Amino acid sequence: MRNNVEIIEVSPRDGIQNEKKLLSLETKLELIERAVDSGASRIEVTSFVNPRRVPQMAEADEICAALPRDTNCKYIGLALNRRGFERACNADLDEVNFVVVASDTFSQRNQGTDTETGTQLFNDLAAGVTRPIGVGVTIAAAFGCPFEGEMPLERLLKVVEGCMQAKPFELALADTIGVATPRDIHERIAAVRELYPDVPLRLHLHNTRNTGLANAWAGIEAGVSALDSSFGGVGGCPFAPAATGNIATEDLVYMLERAGISTGVNLEKAIDAAQFIETSLEKTVPGMVMKAGVFPQTNASAA
Ligand code: MG
Repeated sequence: MRNNVEIIEVSPRDGIQNEKKLLSLETKLELIERAVDSGASRIEVTSFVNPRRVPQMAEADEICAALPRDTNCKYIGLALNRRGFERACNADLDEVNFVVVASDTFSQRNQGTDTETGTQLFNDLAAGVTRPIGVGVTIAAAFGCPFEGEMPLERLLKVVEGCMQAKPFELALADTIGVATPRDIHERIAAVRELYPDVPLRLHLHNTRNTGLANAWAGIEAGVSALDSSFGGVGGCPFAPAATGNIATEDLVYMLERAGISTGVNLEKAIDAAQFIETSLEKTVPGMVMKAGVFPQTNASAA
């Protein structure tokens, strides 16, 4: 089993996109600065969507223009369609992550197109990239769909194959609605690995049914190199009913670091960032280590 894993901080995007309380540009930028300061090596900073559909993401271009540049941290923009992809490519980001939804019904709700058309669009867009930007793909609803139910493995693998024709530098599987179990993670990662032994794999997990950390651990056992998480465990999807928070960054860091798997993220700074989100959103967030405290206590936190 690997002894390090990369954590992608997604609170500035998935974490807040479904929140009714709109955060100011300043607050969003402070959140990103806190993520950089915590040691995150990659941050999903925004998504390029229609602000009428996702008001919290209205300032995507302004955020990208104001990102701290004196860092090695890589910035990722999420895109769901052609216009979003092109905006992301023009926004001076390190990576664009395109979403293809594995089920037709959710794909229609999320992106107004079926899975096959979305896959073809991703291939067209990736082939047209002329800038030095990493092109990755996330396959949403990879473990289950909020409208169609179970996601057959054969269908998922077909979608994976369609997307891999575009040669993304990384492939992410998303448990958008938090229905996966550790056994599913092992099974699906192994099946993808068999087809594509070399592509870096990433997991995007929601803790909707409290299986998030167990799934993260299973993912590392299965060989994924990157995990998405959000400070405080905030998160949700505007187009998937009852899709609640991502796994909490600080809870993930606590578990992994204590188990000898390095993340590069500073736990105390991650807890501070989770508290910053809680204050900014004016509501209790799901993260647990931020409430219980670190263990063992450091001199500073024990004082
Ligand atoms: Mg999500």
